Amino acid sequence: MSRTVYVNGAYLPEEEAKISVFDRGFLMADAVYEVTSVLGGKLIDFDGHAARLARSLSELDMQSPVTRDELLAIHREMVARNGIEDGLVYLQVTRGNPGDRDFAFPDPAKVPSGIVLFTQSKPGLADNPAAKVGMKVISIPDIRWGRRDIKTVQLLYPSMGKMMAKKAGCDDAWFTEDGAVTEGTSNNAYIVKGGTIITRQLSEDILHGITRAAVLRFANEAQMIVEERPFTIDEAKAADEAFVTSASAFVMPVVEIDGVKLGSGKPGPVATRLREIYLDESRKTAV
Ligand code: PMP
Repeated sequence: MSRTVYVNGAYLPEEEAKISVFDRGFLMADAVYEVTSVLGGKLIDFDGHAARLARSLSELDMQSPVTRDELLAIHREMVARNGIEDGLVYLQVTRGNPGDRDFAFPDPAKVPSGIVLFTQSKPGLADNPAAKVGMKVISIPDIRWGRRDIKTVQLLYPSMGKMMAKKAGCDDAWFTEDGAVTEGTSNNAYIVKGGTIITRQLSEDILHGITRAAVLRFANEAQMIVEERPFTIDEAKAADEAFVTSASAFVMPVVEIDGVKLGSGKPGPVATRLREIYLDESRKTAV
């Protein structure tokens, strides 16, 4: 069945949606995005995603084509029109279509930014069987640009990282820089040692995960000890357990790094508990 997508103010069947070949998102990766998950027909952490979108746009001097309230209304309309019970809403804002290719940014008064949304249905998203088994990751050098805190659509190297992982018979890759883990290809990375949860502190080196913020808040509320600092890949291989967080995977255990099994080689108790807490609590505040 054809999806309804949203393009610059119009709800259209996906076959009828059109973007110019001169759109800067297409030519220059001059675009930012957000992915919000949907559970039980409701949006998880919507306000966090809306706030991060506003920050990404402002860091790039890009105009927001919609207000926060309009964005929420469009998200809800997309969920309703596509009958999404469990799944994802993808949103992209681009610097628009200046009608030609030019490195200089167009005048925002003459070229409005563009906006696109589509949905992905994922029945049983919260019951992903992978969470029972855990993921195997490889480590690869982080050769991305220096503003990883801006959620741009420059996803070629993360895609290559996923392919490298696949080739190695693994599920995902963790990026390392100067021996320390920055984050996963599309998630934030954590280890647990002696009961302490360790994850890299926020900076321009990593994306400020919306799920990360919520999970750390819940961990603090549950009296768990959290240390925000860089950890090395060697420390990770010697950890009791590890996990990643993202809007689409929630909290996902990691059981093997570069062929080294962590602990029992099964999802650890901290990751398992945080996943339960995150899913329970975020469903309560879903909109
Ligand atoms: N880091 C990177 C590089 C990502 O692509 C993502 C997911 N978009 C995350 C972290 C997790 O962010 P969030 O919890 O907001 O999905």
